[in-house]
Amino acid sequence: MKILVIGGAGYIGSHTARALRRAGHDVIIFDNLSTGYESLAAGFELVKGDILDDRALAQVLPRVDAIMHFAARAYVGESVTNPRRYFHNNVEGGLSLLNAALDAGVKKIIFSSTCAVYGEPGKIPIEENIPRQPVNPYGVSKLFFEQALEAYDRAYKFRFASLRYFNAAGADDSGEIGELHDPETHLIPLALLAAAGLGPELHVFGSDYPTPDGTCVRDYIHVNDLASAHIRALEHLAAGKDSFAANVGTGVGASVQEVISAVEKVTGKKVPRTVVPRRPGDPPALVANPAKAQALLHWKAERDLNNVVSTAWNFMEKRRTAVAEK
Ligand code: UDP
Repeated sequence: MKILVIGGAGYIGSHTARALRRAGHDVIIFDNLSTGYESLAAGFELVKGDILDDRALAQVLPRVDAIMHFAARAYVGESVTNPRRYFHNNVEGGLSLLNAALDAGVKKIIFSSTCAVYGEPGKIPIEENIPRQPVNPYGVSKLFFEQALEAYDRAYKFRFASLRYFNAAGADDSGEIGELHDPETHLIPLALLAAAGLGPELHVFGSDYPTPDGTCVRDYIHVNDLASAHIRALEHLAAGKDSFAANVGTGVGASVQEVISAVEKVTGKKVPRTVVPRRPGDPPALVANPAKAQALLHWKAERDLNNVVSTAWNFMEKRRTAVAEK
């Protein structure tokens, strides 16, 4: 199949573009490069455009069979201070894409949703059928798009897979692509930078949570495991099966303290750190129950926290060498 990867110059999109190619599909990347990097799209046809530009979309959509939609603003904190940007990009942009696809007759989409649609779940691990009650504008914007997909499915037979990611992390084994955020706010890259002496000491956001060691627990899923879930979801829809939403996580939680220990083990260096107050909006624990994706897609995560951290470290080291040689 020919797949339009919207946001394919970003972190998860670039890994999935490669996974699609490995699975024998053709890929066109569509990205406005606002947060993406041209280097991450190297080797693919890249159309520079914005999802709010329906003319640009109308030119490329007739060439594809399905869409994967990764293009979104994705910082929870920023969504609280600048909700306008989140609703503009994730909601208005999302609808512009959906309508352009409908007009072009492309009626299959794999959507990057998030566990943030659940808000603060009462029960861990999280199952898909609990109420969706997001607690920040980012989660609200993603929930809106999920609901738009549900309506378009009923009305227009527009088939979708809403993949609710937990914490995407790690990098391709090649070390050629990986997580590149500016500013970086994510725990694993920040802990690695601190260990390498390339960044400030790590701030541990709270150590008084109701968790075994007092630090927040998350479900860190390797980006290539996420990518393979997208391929399975695409195959599911291509086989004419029904639309669905599913968690994409490992089912195993790791605390901030456990992540720090994994970073110290992989790098052989100490992570300089201090405990600071909790970050507003951080639930104590978010861990997936991945049983639905397993049953429906025959997919499960194959990599553990150690692999996540060591591939992220490999990417950071390679990038450092490449930058130093320039
Ligand atoms: N975290 C932390 N210090 C940091 C960044 C993150 O202690 O500098 C914690 C954060 O409170 C959360 C976990 O690490 O419990 C993962 O945060 P991240 O921002 O990586 O992902 P999120 O869960 O917000 O999507």
